[in-house]
Formats: sequence, C-alpha cells, structure tokens
Amino acid sequence: MAEVRLKCSCGIVQGVAHDISPNSGTRLVCYCDDCQAFARFLKREDVTDAHGGTDIFQTTHSRIQITDGAEQLRCLKLRPKGLFRWYTECCKTPIANTVSSGVPFVGMIHNFMDDDGVRDSVLGPVRGYIQGKFAKETLPAKWRGARFPLRIVMRSLCKLLAWKVQGLHKPSPFFDASGNPVGKLCILDSDVNRPQSPSA
Ligand SMILES: [Zn+2]
Ligand SMILES: [Zn+2]
Repeated sequence: MAEVRLKCSCGIVQGVAHDISPNSGTRLVCYCDDCQAFARFLKREDVTDAHGGTDIFQTTHSRIQITDGAEQLRCLKLRPKGLFRWYTECCKTPIANTVSSGVPFVGMIHNFMDDDGVRDSVLGPVRGYIQGKFAKETLPAKWRGARFPLRIVMRSLCKLLAWKVQGLHKPSPFFDASGNPVGKLCILDSDVNRPQSPSA
C-alpha cells in the first residue's frame, strides 16, 4: 500500500491519500458530459484528455486526508440531485466527485494526485472506459459505445458494499459529522454550462 501526496496546482491545498494500491480502488476514465462540464466550469479543460475523458481513481472518504488549505475547498453540483464535485478555490483544481456523506465512494481526479511518473504503478492500469457515448469522436470505437461496462459495474459495486460494511465513508474531508458538505456549495442551473449531448 502506498501513500499518494495530494496537491492543487498552486500548492495551497495539500493532503495525503492513504492505503492506495491497484487493488484498493478502481481506476477508470469517465467521458460523461457532466465531467466535461465540470472541467469547463473550472476553465480547466487540461483536466480532460484528448477525447474528453477524466482519469479517476475510486477510493474512500476515510483514505483521504486534507492537511493544508481545507478552507479553499468548494463544491459544485451541476443539478440539485447531481454529484458533489469538489475543487479548490485558489487555483480551480478539480479534486474529487462524491455521491453523499453516507456513500463511501470518492472519485479522485488525477490533477489533484501528485503521482506523475508513478501513476500506472501505484494505481494500476485503467480498468474501464465509461460513458463513452459522450466522448469525442477521436476515441476508438470499441470504447465509444460503452456506457457502464458490466465488469466495472460489478467491481465498483463489490467494493462499495465492502467499504460500506467497513464504515469507510467516515471520517470524510468533504462532509461534517452531520453529513453536510464543508465549504461553499454551488448548484448550477443545469443546462447553462453543459455541452450539447450527442443524440442518443
Ligand atoms: Zn491551489
Ligand atoms: Zn463523468
């Protein structure tokens, strides 16, 4: 198990991800329109790859520790029932996506992980490409059609259940003891910042 340093682009917000290994979580690339809209909202389109994908590592709240600059945490929802999407106010670095305080999942976004050069060895390979129907057409066709490949869904569900049983949704750097998000929460009027979805 490795510890991965966490750091925003300007260095004000820092932290550590504990107990990280290829088997302790799931690395995937998400092409969904919401992840792309989040990067656009932050004016950080450098977050997405050439096909519009975001490299994410699914881990738990309990493994994430913010050591510096927690007052810079901000949270965005693209719609009232959407994910809590976390970023830093200082330099608009995307941090992670979370479902809620009771769900252990934290989708850590690659920009916040200080793992250049060792990402593949520490997190393992990308295990799946999801929501490929929103990807740019440059994405190879074999990934473009996929929404949620079954193998990834099963792996994520198994981990989610195990993590919940182990109580790994707490402690959380993102939610207080009452389950309220820390930092300022902004809910966007959904369609303003969203890209055109390809016709389904
Ligand atoms: Zn910063
Ligand atoms: Zn996404």
